[in-house]
Amino acid sequence: MARAATRLRETRVRVTVQRMAVLAAVEELGGHPDAEAVRVRAQEVTGGLSLQAVYNVLRVLTEVGLVRCTQIAGHPARYEAERNDNHHHFVCRFCGDIVDVHCAIGEAPCLQADLPDSYPVDEAAVTYWGACPRCATAEHR
Ligand SMILES: [Zn+2]
Ligand SMILES: [Zn+2]
Repeated sequence: MARAATRLRETRVRVTVQRMAVLAAVEELGGHPDAEAVRVRAQEVTGGLSLQAVYNVLRVLTEVGLVRCTQIAGHPARYEAERNDNHHHFVCRFCGDIVDVHCAIGEAPCLQADLPDSYPVDEAAVTYWGACPRCATAEHR
């Protein structure tokens, strides 16, 4: 929590208990929790916290660059602490599990887009789809 408060101050965003608790929850949970998982963890600190409130805080934290939001088709948005490492994601088609994939060349935008020079690209986000090891061996294949 203390670390979360420091990081919030560094971005000049107003420090509130909710923002501290949500940021700390994202960092402590690790992986790629959805807003509901973040809510459950954060409200251990704040007491009753609505999902809408969590979404609002996550939006602010994403805007100031403390949290990275990943939209995965067919799943609720996932959140993680922003590390500015330009990593990509592998998503399991079956259970929605997300695993980080290192940036293919080590720096953004990582991929050469087939675009005219008049469209400067500064970021590329790749989603690799497939089956996680657990689902690969399960019956729904
Ligand atoms: Zn899976
Ligand atoms: Zn990630």
